[in-house]
Amino acid sequence: MKNNIHLSDLIADSSMADDYDPNAMSVEKAKAWIANFLNPIDQKETIHIKDALNRILAEPIIATMNVPNHDNSAMDGYAINLDLLSDNGPFKLKVTGKLFAGNLLEGNAEEAVRIMTGAIIPSGLNAVIPQEHVELNEGVITFKTKPQINQNIRHIGEDIKSGQIVHQNGRRIAPCDLGLFASLGIDSIRVYRKIKVAFFSTGDEIISLGNPLLPGHVYDSNRYSLIGLLKRLDVEIFDLGIIPDDKKVIEDTLKKASNIADIVITTGGVSVGEADYMKDILKKIGEILFWKISMKPGRPLAFGKIGKCHYFGLPGNPVSTMVTFYQFVREAILTLSGQTPIPKIPLIKAKLLGPIKKIPGRTEFQRGNYEQDNQGIFKVSPLKDQGSGILRSMCEANCFILLHEDTAHLEKDTWVDIQLFDSLI
Ligand code: AMP
Ligand code: MG
Repeated sequence: MKNNIHLSDLIADSSMADDYDPNAMSVEKAKAWIANFLNPIDQKETIHIKDALNRILAEPIIATMNVPNHDNSAMDGYAINLDLLSDNGPFKLKVTGKLFAGNLLEGNAEEAVRIMTGAIIPSGLNAVIPQEHVELNEGVITFKTKPQINQNIRHIGEDIKSGQIVHQNGRRIAPCDLGLFASLGIDSIRVYRKIKVAFFSTGDEIISLGNPLLPGHVYDSNRYSLIGLLKRLDVEIFDLGIIPDDKKVIEDTLKKASNIADIVITTGGVSVGEADYMKDILKKIGEILFWKISMKPGRPLAFGKIGKCHYFGLPGNPVSTMVTFYQFVREAILTLSGQTPIPKIPLIKAKLLGPIKKIPGRTEFQRGNYEQDNQGIFKVSPLKDQGSGILRSMCEANCFILLHEDTAHLEKDTWVDIQLFDSLI
């Protein structure tokens, strides 16, 4: 816990934090508040590197050997003893040996040795001439210019030096890391265990797939969007289904979820009216903050703790669920997973292809389509339908147009910030 502020104190006395405004909290402030109450995971496990992609390194990796572990040839050609050549020529040497990668020298390394890429440079030789720069006649090579010392030689430790810290903990393992670990002879590493995320949908009107829809009912789409979002983050997921708007059942499910997971996410039930009973339940079994966020879509948001478990209550409208996940939950999950630093979602400048209507005072995440013209300039057009219930807009769009809090109406050709969906997770 940072700033020595406890969640319970903050709930009891909002004046403890000057910028804590329960009526309308900015996206950035809400994120900063949430960050104060996140306890990153500390349990570690050992895994084979072939299973390590996307996992978070829990201990630094220190090289115990040099890569490469010997000076070797960068080319197929001839390793030569430069000291035998005068500056003005003739440039002529006898081939006295042969050396292939992984093999021992045949002959000796007196003047010049036929050498293959990756083979150790025999001691006494100090340059490699590529084979296409020499003429070979009866065991003697001639070439036109004097090579530079160390030319085409890869030196011991030039990739990694023994003792070097290769990665600090907190690194999310990328494909190149798997190869790098292997080049160091490392076959297993210590990583944080995967974050466990439990989630459920709330609402008497929400129906599971496979059941008929009665009037006023909708199929549960949020749980499936969440499954997709969470799978991309490579967390362990616990799908707890749909829970009716029933205090007792919600309370029991939250308790159960908080015992098995590091984070519980619910969708629905945090809008005005409904929020009251969620607040009551959470107050009873944990601590809770409710915010009206100055953002669109996704105005209501709840964050809290049930024991050690973190709780996010996302709004039920399908686009709001996804937007609040991207803006708040993604960063929280990465932090809890032990990743450092947390990669920011990149913002790209794009030129508006049509006007946008907006009132200042809230951040908007409009769905848009961008393209890059042949000069490489990003251009973006907002989708016509921007309703928070229109999930199709997430599928038709390829980016968010991020309209900052103080932005008002925008004319065509204004520069705006966009977040590419491809870069979101
Ligand atoms: P709520 O946040 O519970 O007030 O819900 C806001 C709107 O989102 C309502 O129209 C709900 O029917 C809808 N909704 C809530 N949860 C889901 C869900 N899991 N799948 C699809 N729509 C939902
Ligand atoms: Mg509801």
